[in-house]
Amino acid sequence: MAFENLSERIQKALKNLTGKGKVSEADINAASREIRLALLEADVNFKVVKDFIKKIKERALGQEVQGSLTPGQQIIKIVNDELTKMMGEEAAKLNKAPHIPTIIMMVGLQGTGKTTTVGKLAKYLMDTEKARPLLIAGDIYRPAAIDQLKQIGDQLSVPVFSEDEKDVAKIVADGLAQAKEAKNDYVLIDTAGRLEIDEALMEELERVKAVAKPDNIVLVVDAMTGQVGAQVAETFDKRLDVTGVILTKLDGDTRGGAALSIRAVTGKPILFTGQGEKLSELEGFYPDRMASRILG
Ligand code: GDP
Repeated sequence: MAFENLSERIQKALKNLTGKGKVSEADINAASREIRLALLEADVNFKVVKDFIKKIKERALGQEVQGSLTPGQQIIKIVNDELTKMMGEEAAKLNKAPHIPTIIMMVGLQGTGKTTTVGKLAKYLMDTEKARPLLIAGDIYRPAAIDQLKQIGDQLSVPVFSEDEKDVAKIVADGLAQAKEAKNDYVLIDTAGRLEIDEALMEELERVKAVAKPDNIVLVVDAMTGQVGAQVAETFDKRLDVTGVILTKLDGDTRGGAALSIRAVTGKPILFTGQGEKLSELEGFYPDRMASRILG
């Protein structure tokens, strides 16, 4: 489970405070030190950790007094608040176009789970909104990716648009024309990924963006890559101005660094998390629930 160690260590650091009627500055410093180490070990971005600890100390030492809470409980509440803020506070939603179709462009590095997540998101929209999506196969450099998307389309009984064509922007334009004709309410565009960010990839994605004019540019990030995932998110965001992130493979991430860093590093919300390989394994991301889960 994500956050296992982090959760255990933060809970331990705070446990020392809960029993106390009075909490000294030294107690707060000791707990802060422990929490800081726990966050760094969870692979949370260094600067995010620094800002977080500063906030905790300021608020805890400033002794916000709240009637019924003991000082120890008060500090737990502060940590809970600030963890929630770190992850974005409110649950974020996809943007909806004023007229159908709502266009969702999916971007991300190869192997992060982009193609699978296109399928998951299509299923989610079908289940929650009875949507009739069209998927566009825009990852033309990996024939396997096109086949994979077609298989997903078959599984969901959803049309997949593909074309034997070298210009991705043209494929996307043609796919969108078909969606308008067929009155699909959502279009999900799978795009190419690379093992690492390169200029050619970014330029191609910018071209696709210009043609598709997407309502959502959703970046898919592998949670297992920790704060490196957050850095990748920052780079994609600078070039493409992404609207949100889907964090995949959270089921295999024991640390939680990406989940905790992405919002603070990019300013962009996590929309969903991938919790397994099956198309049904997509869940909404709720910062307050995540924070409560960490604090136990
Ligand atoms: P792409 O190259 O980014 O399109 O990645 P794929 O969609 O092909 O996924 C790469 C691998 O990650 C596949 O084996 C997927 O089954 C797996 N995968 C995708 N999302 C998740 C997830 O949320 N949890 C787990 N455990 N595996 C996932």
